[in-house]
Amino acid sequence: MSNNSILVVGGGFAGITAALEAAEVGHEVYLVETNPYLGGRVAQLNQYFPKLCPPSCGLEIQFQRIKNLKVKTFTMCEVESVTGTPGAFDVKIKQRPRFVNPNCTMCGECEKAATTSVKSEFDFGLVDRKVAYSTHLFAFPQRYVIDADACAPGEMDAIKAACPYNAVDPDDAGNTFDLQVGSIIWATGWKPYDMAKLTNLGAGKLKNVVSNMQFERLAAPNGPTGGQILRPSDGRAPKRIAFVQCAGSRDENHLNYCSYICCMASLKHVTYIREKLPEAQVVVYYIDLRTPGRYDNFMQKVAADDKLSLVKGKVAKIVECECKSPILTVEDAVTGIKGEERFDLVVLATGMQPSCAGSKLPVELAVDDDGFIIGGADMGVYAAGCAKLPLDVMKTAQTGTGAALKAIQNVVGR
Ligand SMILES: Cc1cc2nc3c(=O)[nH]c(=O)nc-3n(C[C@H](O)[C@H](O)[C@H](O)COP(=O)(O)OP(=O)(O)OC[C@H]3O[C@@H](n4cnc5c(N)ncnc54)[C@H](O)[C@@H]3O)c2cc1C
Repeated sequence: MSNNSILVVGGGFAGITAALEAAEVGHEVYLVETNPYLGGRVAQLNQYFPKLCPPSCGLEIQFQRIKNLKVKTFTMCEVESVTGTPGAFDVKIKQRPRFVNPNCTMCGECEKAATTSVKSEFDFGLVDRKVAYSTHLFAFPQRYVIDADACAPGEMDAIKAACPYNAVDPDDAGNTFDLQVGSIIWATGWKPYDMAKLTNLGAGKLKNVVSNMQFERLAAPNGPTGGQILRPSDGRAPKRIAFVQCAGSRDENHLNYCSYICCMASLKHVTYIREKLPEAQVVVYYIDLRTPGRYDNFMQKVAADDKLSLVKGKVAKIVECECKSPILTVEDAVTGIKGEERFDLVVLATGMQPSCAGSKLPVELAVDDDGFIIGGADMGVYAAGCAKLPLDVMKTAQTGTGAALKAIQNVVGR
């Protein structure tokens, strides 16, 4: 007999949507997420279109529904192996140690006691975080995490001693457990293309050349600058900002496809700048601006900004001057003129790469040359969201709903 339970791997918008759709009609749903928080990449944005609302809007409602519908959620977990057949899978899940037990009240005393800092993954290395940390408002469950590998000798003991609630557990060894499910939804999303590979554009080494996701963090109220757009090198407000579209995208040496969302993301970033730096000059260098469907209206609105220039041109090189200002070598595709332009801050519109690209999946799934999942349905495994192809949030949610429907058919129709 088929097992009616459904496993969703990945707690971003696609996974959350799929989990809720399946739970809504009475299926037992397990949601497994590798981070200590839910929400995926959307949680790292300042605002998201089409409505330009903060991530909390939308996600908070989803989290409430996850609780109400009793979706069994496991964070800091990954799938280790999948055996069995469609309708009767046995899935081994590995949970990393958190070193903090349910006594935690998020009081923050452990963070104060920690002395070692490492680069914050959540803020894409723009700032450091302590080894005892809470990633985000959306930490799930609401508990601190201790990064034991990065602790200095004796530091874990000092952190434990500082906790007033006896919530620090240095002996936590993690956990491995099995889940029996009938269908699996794979919604592991995307990662930003690695700037270090863009050697002609500074290879991620120029302080005032940031990625589009770093720019999201710079503009976010819970980001490293409290939402002020400042140059990473000296904390000054930039007066001239450039965006380089297709940074590594549509390029056979890097990502040989369009990530669909980057033009819209940069236009959205122009709205952040206009709100926070009303006098700043902005130039967007593009190959062609892609704002599909109704997004064209957004483009027309943003393009009316008289301090914004949209320049059809390819940025060939970025270097920096002594004061760390980036200098772009750019060829204007309309006039044919090649020249140098100096800016205070440059944003590289890097594309979305499937998060599983380059790694071996614990379940046999067909992927294309870029790592996007293109198969699995015949085996009772259904891909959703950006694990499948580059998408915006709205379409991501639609694929989550579609995957849930297929997963339900797989267990009910047997
Ligand atoms: C600069 C930029 C700005 C953007 N702004 C917007 C916007 O304003 N509006 C909009 O509509 N879209 C925007 N997008 C696109 C948006 O980020 C995506 O549509 C959305 O993140 C897709 O959700 P997802 O759930 O498919 O993937 P993700 O958000 O990547 O979520 C996937 C989840 O799976 C988890 N995961 C990964 N691997 C594993 C594993 N092995 N095991 C368990 N869990 C795993 C991840 O930790 C993550 O939580 C933007 C994209 C970029 C690049």
